[in-house]
Order: sequence, then structure tokens, then C-alpha cells
Amino acid sequence: MKSKYIDFKQKRSYEELKEPAEAIKQGKLVLFPTETVYGIGADALNEAAVKKIYEAKGRASDNPLIAHISSLEMLKRLVENVGEIEKRLIDKFWPGPLTIVFKKREIVPNIITGGLDTVAIRMPSSIIARKLIEYSGCPVAAPSANISGKPSGTLIEDIVDELDGKVEYIIDSGKVEIGVESTVVRVVDNVVHILRPGKITKEDIEKMGIEVYVEKQILGEYKEGEKVMSPGIKYKHYAPNTKCVLVYSEDNEKMVEEIKRLSEGKNVVILSKGQNIERYDVQNKLNMGKTLEEISQNIFTLLRKADKYNADVILIEGVEKEGLGLAIMNRLIRASAHEFIEI
Ligand code: AMP
Ligand code: MG
Repeated sequence: MKSKYIDFKQKRSYEELKEPAEAIKQGKLVLFPTETVYGIGADALNEAAVKKIYEAKGRASDNPLIAHISSLEMLKRLVENVGEIEKRLIDKFWPGPLTIVFKKREIVPNIITGGLDTVAIRMPSSIIARKLIEYSGCPVAAPSANISGKPSGTLIEDIVDELDGKVEYIIDSGKVEIGVESTVVRVVDNVVHILRPGKITKEDIEKMGIEVYVEKQILGEYKEGEKVMSPGIKYKHYAPNTKCVLVYSEDNEKMVEEIKRLSEGKNVVILSKGQNIERYDVQNKLNMGKTLEEISQNIFTLLRKADKYNADVILIEGVEKEGLGLAIMNRLIRASAHEFIEI
């Protein structure tokens, strides 16, 4: 391993994060866990350091990054103004898997915002992440740890081959808690727009008596030239090399039958819910779990695993588009490049 490895799977003193924090201060990259997915972090206010993130991931320069913070003092350094609705969201969901887009202050470099006048900010609940940011003394820009276009990293073993040597430190805390990236929102005229669905759901925000609008492009296809609220929507994402087909029906029987039909005479891998897995008589099948929480935790690692079979096609069972299911379906629709059969 060319990057320095810190094993945080066993309980260790947070003091050990001071060395990687020093590396961030010096403009280097550190791969670290958050509660959502692993991130590749750099000092968000250091342009040269942030540039290294784009290079390591092969990420398009107009796809902005999220600045991770450890205190509300850091937020004040980065943004002009925090509106009433944003304040309520912060009180309720920070630290946690919610990213909020704000109007940026001058000190936030254009390189992290992709040239936009807004900046996306999150305070993670992962203590390792927060301590690392606190010891660095700077906001930490961190996109998901994966080469752009590939499934996000939720387990170090999955991503070490593609990122080893590109970062100064790898901090390994085992499997992440949530498994899909944060919910990204922006407040416009007192309405919360969901730009990317995640663990904090539309329903969670509506319960606070706040109006929520889910951007249509979340489940639909992006058409060249279309206006977007979130630049990430334009890019290929989460895709294994093997072609994926996603199948969903509210009627579980219909979904299982369709997947069986599609698998006939082909070398397939099936990604199935725990409840259905016994029903598929194929050699290669992977259990996504029984609950939406389990599925979200496993999904990226299973997309990567499924790719290793050199199958003709990966057939994936969909889930309902409510609650955390919306986030899972958003990732799966994109992983399958919109090859989505809904019956
Ligand atoms: P990732 O870094 O892979 O977790 O992706 C970050 C996501 O946040 C992408 O989908 C971006 O498009 C979105 N994002 C970041 N900054 C902004 C911003 N200023 N306005 C809208 N979306 C943003
Ligand atoms: Mg990403």
C-alpha cells in the first residue's frame, strides 16, 4: 500500500487523527469515513489541494464538491446568510446526512463550487470525520471516494485498488453506517428542493410542516442542454462495467417473474431482496438485505461485487420510491443507465 493506512475498525484514540489532519493542512488528500460513504478530503479553501481531488477522481470540473464542517463557526465563515428554514433544518438534522446549498462568501474558491455562486455544506455525524475536520482547522471538501462514474465507496476493500497512492492517508473504519450519499437540498422561496435524495427523506422534512419539492430529474433522464439545479445530475454515476437492468413492480410476483424471464438462457447476476432470493434458480445471486436500511448499506458494495462475475447482465430488483427507497432507486436507475423496466 502506497498511502499510509490507519486502521480505525478497532477503537483507537482520536488523537491519531492529528497526523492525517496535518496532511490536510499541508494541502494533501486524505481518504476518510463519514456516516454516508467514504470521502476524499482536502482543505476546501486551498485551490491547489482541491484540484488534486478532481484529478484523483477524474471528476468534471463543473461538478461541485460538498464542504464538510465540524462547527457552526465554520459555516459562518463560508456563507453570507442562513435563512429561517435553513436554520430549522440545521437544528433538526445536523450533524447528519443532510447537505444544504447556501449563497457563498468570497473566501470560498470557485474550484469547489464549479463556478457557481452557491456552496453545498454538511456537518457529518461521524465522529472520525468531525474530529478530522476539527483538527485540520479548515472546512474539508470531500466527494465520494471512487473514480467518477463508478459506485461510491462504502468499504475500503472495494476502493483501495482505484485510490491507493493517490491520497496521503487512508482511514479505515469498516463498513459505513448509511451507505448512500447525503440528501442535498436547496431552499427557494420557503420550499425545500431535494436535489439528491438520501437518508433524510422528503417525508422527514414534510413532518416539520415545510413544503418539499423533489426535482424531477432525480428519477428521470437528463437531456443534453437541460437546466439543472444540481450539476451532478448531468454525469454518469454509480455504474459497474457490466450492463445493469433494473426491474420494479408494486406487485412482487410480477417483478420476480419478469426477472426470471430476463435471466433465461443468459449468464446473469441477480441482486435480490432477502425475501425473494430463494426464488431465483441461478448460480449467481446476491442478497441486498430485507429492509431499505440494509439495502442502502449494501448497494454500492454489491454493484461492485456483481461486476466481478463477468456476466452478460446484472438484473436488479427495485424498491418502492418512498422514504429511503427514493435514494436507493435514484442510485439504481443511474447505475443501470436508465435501463429501468417498471411493470
Ligand atoms: P458527491 O461529491 O459525489 O457527493 O456529489 C456532490 C453532489 O452535490 C453533486 O450531485 C453536486 O451536483 C451537488 N452539489 C454540490 N454543490 C452544489 C451547489 N452549489 N449547488 C447544487 N448542487 C451542488
Ligand atoms: Mg459521488
